[in-house]
Amino acid sequence: MEEVSEKSLTLNFADEALMLVWAKTAAAVLNSGLVIHLVGDLGMGKTTLSRGLIQGLGHVGNVKSPTYTLVEPYELERLTVYHFDLYRLADPEELEFMGVRDYFGPSTVSLIEWPEKGAGVLPAADISINITQWHLGRCLTLTASSPNGQAQLDRWKNC
Ligand code: ADP
Ligand code: MG
Repeated sequence: MEEVSEKSLTLNFADEALMLVWAKTAAAVLNSGLVIHLVGDLGMGKTTLSRGLIQGLGHVGNVKSPTYTLVEPYELERLTVYHFDLYRLADPEELEFMGVRDYFGPSTVSLIEWPEKGAGVLPAADISINITQWHLGRCLTLTASSPNGQAQLDRWKNC
């Protein structure tokens, strides 16, 4: 079910429920200070995965994709999560006007759907999670691109 190489981790989930079980355990060992890009076509499960992580961090209630507001904050017990959905972002400069740079810091985690749309303004990912179809379920390929990202990946490898 799991393939491990140094800088990436591949996880296959036969269905949504199994992915959400993983998200819950993954949230329990999630470090703060991470920018996580969620990459994949419409309907691949980026919002579902975000919901699993945010609820796993203790949020009770719904997690809807912030399609129109672009970002939704969740102030949780251990850390603050900013959940972005940049699908409708017309110009990366809009992020500058939102003061988005203040969102990324040592006590926050950003989960960013459609990071491609914010290229040039968004900070680079510590971890990229690429989601593709796998049978009826999904394949997640997690790639670290910073020391913090690598440390998080190492923690997730033991989940
Ligand atoms: P995205 O945010 O990438 O557009 P969503 O999270 O809205 O995608 O999910 C789209 C659909 O995929 C939903 O119907 C959801 O139930 C389904 N889905 C999400 N994750 C999985 C999974 N791991 N396996 C199978 N179906 C999934
Ligand atoms: Mg979505």
